[in-house]
Amino acid sequence: MKNIAVIGSGTMGNGIAHTFAQFGYNVAMIDISQPALDKAIATISKNLDRIVAKGTITEAEKAQTLKNITTYTAIADGVKNADLVVEAATENVEIKLNIFRELDKICPPHTILASNTSSISITKIGAVTKRADKVIGMHFMNPVPVMRLIEVIRGFSTSDAVTTLIMETAKKLNKIPTEVNDYPGFVANKILMPMINEAIITLHEGTAGVEEIDTVMKLGMAHPMGPLQLADFIGLDVCLSILKVLQDGYGNPKYAPCPLLVNMVTAGHLGVKSGQGFYSWGHGTKDLVVADSFKKKEMA
Ligand code: NAD
Repeated sequence: MKNIAVIGSGTMGNGIAHTFAQFGYNVAMIDISQPALDKAIATISKNLDRIVAKGTITEAEKAQTLKNITTYTAIADGVKNADLVVEAATENVEIKLNIFRELDKICPPHTILASNTSSISITKIGAVTKRADKVIGMHFMNPVPVMRLIEVIRGFSTSDAVTTLIMETAKKLNKIPTEVNDYPGFVANKILMPMINEAIITLHEGTAGVEEIDTVMKLGMAHPMGPLQLADFIGLDVCLSILKVLQDGYGNPKYAPCPLLVNMVTAGHLGVKSGQGFYSWGHGTKDLVVADSFKKKEMA
């Protein structure tokens, strides 16, 4: 395992490329958008500055990390010598299946194909290739350089040897890999999304306000942030689409998204990325200001 290709250079892709490069791997970072690649390199450089300032790495190690990354806009150019491809493109089934069909045709036979998908079936992705035994999920957490967990997802046909190799590779990145099977939501989102949905239902039913719900969960359960704040960070559209995957996959109404979540997504209130969710984010992400729609009405 020496040459890694990362497909997609957005929020997750740049963090994954950064992490492999920092641990000495040659990284090809691929995105269909040149501006996205330029932004990703700037983000990686800024994030490296932060860890240089902390004394975790030296200036020379920062320079070497950036040197380890080459950018490409065509998948075929970037994956030629890849031992492992980690796909972190947009969460859309058709986009991902097309990428894996192409990867299967052009990658060397030994190349392992991993996806960072939050919710799409690894078995389904593997089934469009002729190497389903070498298709696996590597679900990194955001922000990738900081968060230590990698949920390693075994598709129905993923081999033991490939799983072992990916677990070992994750440890070389100073991460903690955890092996799970391929069922809707895997483990992380199967448990997290119903909790977020329940917090939204609690708000919708008027049991408590935004701040009260988040405070109970933060102080009472020792969560670093409340579920409504976390939903704003993840993106309410992403939460909605994962809940739909759980609802379809298990056919169980307990996963039905709260109508308030559906309304907010329809209205474009998506959380941090749109500036408005349960909180208002126009001023940045440091201070918590409840969004106008959820401010308590003055008592008459
Ligand atoms: P993003 O929108 O920030 O980035 C996606 C990138 O993929 C964009 O730069 C886009 O130009 C690129 N892209 C789209 N189609 C492409 C193609 N055919 N070839 C190459 N590049 C292509 O998305 P993200 O938040 O980084 O999410 C990426 C993946 O990671 C998704 O599968 C998502 O479910 C998963 N994920 C996201 C998070 C999170 O917190 N954001 C956490 C864990 C997993």
